[in-house]
Amino acid sequence: MSILYSSTRDDSVKVTASEAILKGLAPDGGLFVPDSIPALDKSLVEFSKMTYQEVAYEVMKLFLDDFTKEELLHCINSAYDSKFDTTKMAPLVKADDAYFLELFHGKTIAFKDMALSILPHLLTTSAKKNNVKNDIVILTATSGDTGKAALAGFADVPGTKIIVFYPKDGVSPIQEKQMVTQKGNNTYVVSIKGNFDDAQTGVKKIFSDKELEKKMDDAGYQFSSANSINIGRLVPQVVYYVYAYAQLLANGEIKENEKINVVVPTGNFGNILAAFYAKNMGLPINKLICASNENKVLYDFFTTGEYDRNREFILTTSPSMDILISSNLERLIYRIAGNDANKNKELMMELSSQGKYTISDSMKNQLKDFYGNYASEDEDAKTIKRIYEETGYVIDTHTSVAATVYNKYRAETKDDTKTVIASTASPYKFTRAVMNAIDTKYDSLSDFELVDELAKISKVKVPNAIEEIRTAKVLHDTTVEVNEMKDIVEKILSL
Ligand SMILES: *Cc1c(COP(=O)(O)O)cnc(C)c1O
Repeated sequence: MSILYSSTRDDSVKVTASEAILKGLAPDGGLFVPDSIPALDKSLVEFSKMTYQEVAYEVMKLFLDDFTKEELLHCINSAYDSKFDTTKMAPLVKADDAYFLELFHGKTIAFKDMALSILPHLLTTSAKKNNVKNDIVILTATSGDTGKAALAGFADVPGTKIIVFYPKDGVSPIQEKQMVTQKGNNTYVVSIKGNFDDAQTGVKKIFSDKELEKKMDDAGYQFSSANSINIGRLVPQVVYYVYAYAQLLANGEIKENEKINVVVPTGNFGNILAAFYAKNMGLPINKLICASNENKVLYDFFTTGEYDRNREFILTTSPSMDILISSNLERLIYRIAGNDANKNKELMMELSSQGKYTISDSMKNQLKDFYGNYASEDEDAKTIKRIYEETGYVIDTHTSVAATVYNKYRAETKDDTKTVIASTASPYKFTRAVMNAIDTKYDSLSDFELVDELAKISKVKVPNAIEEIRTAKVLHDTTVEVNEMKDIVEKILSL
């Protein structure tokens, strides 16, 4: 049975997986969704004997069924290799009565690497399959993490160029250093004199510029996006949930078919949606626990059935979850509306005109697999400190949101099902907040002094991603005004 992708806002759209990856977003502004969720066709015991790459193949072949075996293996093997600092790719660490699934062993030490290492290969393979002759130009606005992960993923991938815009004064010193030292002769990093919204709006404008599109086509280029709504980012994320279950089984931590809970620190709802897809493929998952920081739109949504973005945007120490519009939630809404594109479109229109919508009771009844809660800044810091003091294990601020919410869930429900917590960033990525949570005495140290202190207390080696930037040369130093973004793109591409 073959799988096609339709738009969450228009049932008549039907494209293949490779077309959906190339397009990113449906023409009507909807998201591509598979017309059915495929079932796993290997047993859990079989999975428990596989490597990460083998699990990746078995899971991804079901979603990307217009890729040949050779094409898909090429993508997988180009992505999940020695770029990761462990052959397991996503190891499990048992601590604090849970299993932390460490998704931060890739090049930029955050979970975005799991998908952004493979997306460039899925994109270039999709281009070939669809006879696209143009080079793909990735254009991204970033507030820090995605930009670096996308740069690292696309660097030196033949047939692609990547241009990243970031707000000059809107990213952390380590994040900026990570980006401006990026190697690769197809990478371009430009700061703008504006904030993240200016960067994002500028990129959207360039994307929809028809005149520029024509000029690009004449020169042999076309734009694409590495945005988290691309199914080429979603599908690779399903893999590590199957792999985590398989590892628990292989290690004798669970019995075959025993259910597990999954806790995910959530922003754009991509990571937890991947867990939901894994459950629907037949992976024995009990509860999907959605953890938010103080931007708790999703907690309110799961509690009341009303999604309301009309609220103050709070800057937290888990910045990658500071989001008021969780784009990937649309895929869940579409599904609980009975795959009804019209119903979903109505709600999304309300979201864009009024900033909120309410789902019906029958839709809400289908959310029983989910549990939502949130962690305050204070609770987040206390959890980091407590887990460090009790176990010696140091977690980052995002993972701590998940650990905090998991403890609330346990206290409320007394459910003692074995639980996997998605650990989305290395503590080295958010060193200052992590060290301050453990002891305020660290506050006076410089960023790199903090790194050395963290190595001492955690006994975890400083990752290459951090070592590298201590001494790396600055390779990108272009800064432009917001209204010069298009000019710089034309200059980079010699248009
Ligand atoms: C992006 C990100 C998240 C949120 O993931 P979503 O898929 O957007 O929900 C959580 N933690 C970290 C460290 C991230 O980079």
